[in-house]
Amino acid sequence: ESSRKPLLSLRNINMTFGGVKALKNVSFEVMPGEVHCLAGENGSGKSTLIKIVTGVYRPEPGAVIDYDGQTYSHMSPVTAQAAGIQVIWQDLALFPEMSVAENIAFQTVLGRWPRFVSYGRMREIAARALARLGVSLNVDRPLKEYAIAQRQIVAIARALIGDAKLIFMDEPTASLTQSETDHLLEIVRTLSASGVAVVFVSHRLAEVLDISDRLTVLRDGALVGVYPATGMTQSRITELMTGKTFDHQ
Ligand code: ADP
Ligand code: MG
Repeated sequence: ESSRKPLLSLRNINMTFGGVKALKNVSFEVMPGEVHCLAGENGSGKSTLIKIVTGVYRPEPGAVIDYDGQTYSHMSPVTAQAAGIQVIWQDLALFPEMSVAENIAFQTVLGRWPRFVSYGRMREIAARALARLGVSLNVDRPLKEYAIAQRQIVAIARALIGDAKLIFMDEPTASLTQSETDHLLEIVRTLSASGVAVVFVSHRLAEVLDISDRLTVLRDGALVGVYPATGMTQSRITELMTGKTFDHQ
């Protein structure tokens, strides 16, 4: 296993916003199929890092993005998606008035097939993507009839049909109940078991320890370190995130 090559390897990532150094020479690596948590306090640069990998922001010159056998100096959203990098944004970027089937298949329809695709075909695509997640929803119902937790699953299903190899989830459990969170974590495990790598951001450290294989800690835009989740504790992660040492006794 240790001889396996990373799916994603970032080096030398710098990003400045009007004098604020959001990322300082950060490196970051994700193995194929692993669940990798990005931990850090508010403002530590987690979302900025995700936006660089998914092509929303262009890092400063000198950046190296090795992904799936190719080297890039920056990504664009189109390049990232075509390469199987997907992101579940907090606002989910879905269409509430459209059916579940249309929400899941829409991007594929736009991206892959130049001509009209039947609703029946969209239903098939949507049902297959949901089945891969072990979820059944009525794909004909408008998305707005579903709660946030189900909408999130729809967003993940949509990401999957684009042949995702790497899915970023930025604080996906922030507005979920405990049982919805448990369900989402189960889906993350299913994704990982099927070979899809997941980069997961959460403030809930119990969740981070529960779900991750490894974690990368950022503090004030700088890399603190990369750690296996095994043997890690919540208080240790907090120490790494804040740079403050607690009295353990
Ligand atoms: P996190 O996701 O870890 O909370 P962010 O990546 O959102 O952190 O932000 C890192 C730093 O960059 C913060 O100081 C934030 O205020 C700043 N920042 C992020 N995005 C922008 C932006 N679009 N314009 C200006 N500053 C930004
Ligand atoms: Mg953020």
